[in-house]
Amino acid sequence: MKNLNEIKYFPSGLLEKIFNQKKMFSNLDIIGYSVLNNPIYRLRIGKGIKRILIWSQMHGNETTTTKSLIDFYDFLINDKVGKDLSAHLLFSIIFQLNPDGSNRFSRNNHNNYDLNRDALNLSQPESKTLMKEFEVFKPNFCFNLHGQRSIYSIGKSTIPASISFLSPSTSKNKILTKSRLISMRLIVGVCDYIKSKYSLVYGRFDDSFNLNCFGDFFTKKRIPTILFEAGHFYNDKYRKFSRELVLQSLIKISLLIKNESYKQIDYKKYYKIKSNNDNLRDIIIKNVTILKNNKLFFAQEIAIQYSEKLVKNKVLFIPLIDSIAKKLHYESSLIFELNDNQSQKNILKSKIGENAEKFINKLNLLNNI
Ligand SMILES: [Zn+2]
Repeated sequence: MKNLNEIKYFPSGLLEKIFNQKKMFSNLDIIGYSVLNNPIYRLRIGKGIKRILIWSQMHGNETTTTKSLIDFYDFLINDKVGKDLSAHLLFSIIFQLNPDGSNRFSRNNHNNYDLNRDALNLSQPESKTLMKEFEVFKPNFCFNLHGQRSIYSIGKSTIPASISFLSPSTSKNKILTKSRLISMRLIVGVCDYIKSKYSLVYGRFDDSFNLNCFGDFFTKKRIPTILFEAGHFYNDKYRKFSRELVLQSLIKISLLIKNESYKQIDYKKYYKIKSNNDNLRDIIIKNVTILKNNKLFFAQEIAIQYSEKLVKNKVLFIPLIDSIAKKLHYESSLIFELNDNQSQKNILKSKIGENAEKFINKLNLLNNI
């Protein structure tokens, strides 16, 4: 099997291969089927009383946290601390809630539904499966695992938000219920830990209320829920670093729950966690000459953002023009300034949304990185 660190595409077949390799099938149950009749698997692991429900890949193209969950399983089975965790806690793990979306590398399911906007309507079989597991398992805590785009920075800095957390709201006016206070304390605890171990690499995600999101819905049902967003890091397109951060966070939060040490944490520190900003772009090029409507525009700045596209079972990173302006208000870890000679020889004729691959290749910008 390929090294998981070198893949972005995580279809249901790969997950089944891993289950096979790790001899996990005897501990797995099929708890539902997707629109295309692909099985949705659930693993129950642990002997404790406190129950934690975890699900990943409800958005099929967000694959980092599925890798982290496999790492977490290995940790629970093999590590001394992990074995102790599973003696005191009971986990219900759904590694891939959206197998159809995972197979076609899309956020939405086969019916083009965003499953995280279906908590109230339960119109899709995958959402019904998650709700059924919630009702049967009766978790004390929920972890809702996602991945976020590379545009997010910590606050207004140029530091990418490699991992972000959210304690979902329970109402429009963001009232602090008992369950929300618990998830806020857990997030403060894990952020302090990440800060001590890796320095600043976390952020806080937008908490506008939407009851159709499962996190908001479960929090309103009085179950502390934490949303994880696996982000990116410099020159780490396969997100090896955020995979590690998600694993360490799963371990840390489970320990805080096991020891009940979160009860001593000051929830107000949650508000001090810097919120995410969509401040970053993958590449910025300055001093570009642009041809538009038969007119030349000099000394322009362009931002380029990679779009992920599945081609022949492999995810390609396609550089698209995100924005063009005299002065852009974005930051990037890859900023190039063309000299006047380069700028005159390589006039950009593409528009926003178009592929910039040829332009970048002609300028040889990425060859020395
Ligand atoms: Zn997501």
